[in-house]
Amino acid sequence: MTGIDWANISDWRAREGHTLGAWAMHSADSAGRVHAEQPHPFRSPYQRDRDRIVHSAAFRRLAHKTQVFTGLADDYHRSRLTHTLEVTSIARTLARALALNEDLVETLALGHDIGHPPLGHAGEDTLADLLAAEGGFNHNAQALRIMTLLEGLSSRFPGLNLSREVLDAQATRKRDGSAPAPLLETQVVDAADSIAYDTHDTDDAIELGLVGLDELLELPIVAEAATRAREVLGDVTGGDLRRAVLHELVDLQVADLVAESRGTIERLAIDSVARVRAVFDGDGAGRGVRVVAHSPPVAAGKKQLEMFLFQKVYRSDRVMTVRAAAQEKLSQLFAWYVAHPEELPARFRARAGACGVPRSTADYIAGMTDRYLEWDHGRRLC
Ligand code: MG
Repeated sequence: MTGIDWANISDWRAREGHTLGAWAMHSADSAGRVHAEQPHPFRSPYQRDRDRIVHSAAFRRLAHKTQVFTGLADDYHRSRLTHTLEVTSIARTLARALALNEDLVETLALGHDIGHPPLGHAGEDTLADLLAAEGGFNHNAQALRIMTLLEGLSSRFPGLNLSREVLDAQATRKRDGSAPAPLLETQVVDAADSIAYDTHDTDDAIELGLVGLDELLELPIVAEAATRAREVLGDVTGGDLRRAVLHELVDLQVADLVAESRGTIERLAIDSVARVRAVFDGDGAGRGVRVVAHSPPVAAGKKQLEMFLFQKVYRSDRVMTVRAAAQEKLSQLFAWYVAHPEELPARFRARAGACGVPRSTADYIAGMTDRYLEWDHGRRLC
């Protein structure tokens, strides 16, 4: 048998050279890792980053963290994990259509929510209040703490030792102004996150009976999705219409984003990562351009849908009542650990010496799943 030249045909540098646009982040141009490591024989740097996220404890725990409907959700509704997988699926489609680095996009998408504490946004807001005097709490900043400090991969360094582009992307999401302008790979993940939650929160809210499909069809972007669904399926109604509308809602947003972003790449002659950043930063007077963006009609339609969801769903009496109970439990558990730091697990106790008991307590509680927090609250306080 003649030998197959595996080294050549599977080489990720050559593959990226063939498939990525000049505006994409090429793995060979990575700024590397904080702690130097030997290159892998057949995985690119961003493939390794993706695998490190998937194999982390923080990623596994997303399965049992609420997305939005704390305490109301049953097995139909999205968890943080299934939300993350929907974002990753949409982001991969966008990345391939825009000739971006799919391995990097997948890493950023899979990791984008690992900093979320239990109990959805109620949990995050509560921790932010409790840590107001200690620098606050934010899920994007917490993701960075997980990536660089809290997860353990090797005794040689703390955290996951991810590529600098992954850490930069996460730092960009903190919006503290010190991070570099986002790569197109980062912009794609932010857009995919928005497409995913606008659509699946709509679906979950219908399932919970918080809104009806009839009300939603009064919104222009949902009506447009229904028109497209009927073009394909004829005069569908009920559950068939609902499923088709949600499918079309994702599809029309993705198609719009691809067309707009391709147009902007051509119009602004984006031919390098440096140009992506220069265009984003603009002329210093706040006139920068986000290349991955929707057309004005779709952007306006999304805004209307989001305002509708905010009023009818996120701030509905049912959601707010459960939210208040969740916040009370988390606050009580936080206060209990701050008063009993000797009960923190050893590594959080050890870290409290450097970062203080409140921050280490927040690290511990933020890592809990909804059901673990429930159990621990019952054990400690009932
Ligand atoms: Mg998200």
